Amino acid sequence: MSQTIRILLNGAKGRMGQAIIHVAPEESAVIAGAVDQGDNAAKLINDADVVIDFSSHQATLAVAQLCAKNKKPLVIGTTGHTAEEKSAITNAIKDVPVVWAGNYSVGVTLLNALVRQAARALSQAGRWDIEVTEMHHRHKKDAPSGTADTLLKILLEERKLAADALKHGRSGLTGERPLNEIGVHALRGGDVVGDHTVLFAAEGERLELTHKAANREIFARGAVRAAHWVKGKSAGIYGMDDVLGLR
Ligand code: NAD
Repeated sequence: MSQTIRILLNGAKGRMGQAIIHVAPEESAVIAGAVDQGDNAAKLINDADVVIDFSSHQATLAVAQLCAKNKKPLVIGTTGHTAEEKSAITNAIKDVPVVWAGNYSVGVTLLNALVRQAARALSQAGRWDIEVTEMHHRHKKDAPSGTADTLLKILLEERKLAADALKHGRSGLTGERPLNEIGVHALRGGDVVGDHTVLFAAEGERLELTHKAANREIFARGAVRAAHWVKGKSAGIYGMDDVLGLR
């Protein structure tokens, strides 16, 4: 990370926006523009090398269109996009390089790889039930988290299941748990930055893969690292595993 990059930051007044402003000087980055709801990002984009968006799922499409129009690379940090939003964003960014990750921490990027490896290995090793839990602070607006969504996508792929295999919470007379089900549980409370566990349960043993985030700086540093990496890349959608060379 030698050369300084200039960042246009969307969602600058939020928790993640503030974390990025805080870490930028230590990560060879300058905040060329800091915008939030109601501000005009278009006026500032020419002065930036890369745009980072940590605003809201509803705001990402406009940011993506602005980047496409001005041929600027983009780092998408927002989560909770609807299927329609995802498809419109994907269409808008087809000619620019973009890093789009539900979690910018090194540990969760590795967790994704370990979960894939475990799910693959255990699919040949008798019956293993899979449950996913995540816990976040009381202010979080979407569930399950973007990180949990990525873990679930990996598990569905490895188990060759469709999305209707996901069971969000359980209540009442649910009946016995079928094998081809993945339980998903979103806990909310306090100031928890982000805990994720993938639990594999068999007769007589359990394997739990857990990541706990203690502060937002890990996401902020990862997103700035992604901004350095994506500058000058060819058009495409990349993940944090590409940034860290883990793919
Ligand atoms: P927050 O509510 O604290 O901050 C969001 C900010 O965006 C607010 O200041 C709000 O005013 C602003 N905003 C809302 N609409 C906007 C618009 N149209 N244009 C510009 N700004 C707008 O939320 P947060 O905790 O900072 O999280 C922001 C997003 O990042 C969420 O989607 C969250 O799930 C996601 N997140 C992702 C990661 C990751 O590693 N990918 C980590 C943490 C949070």
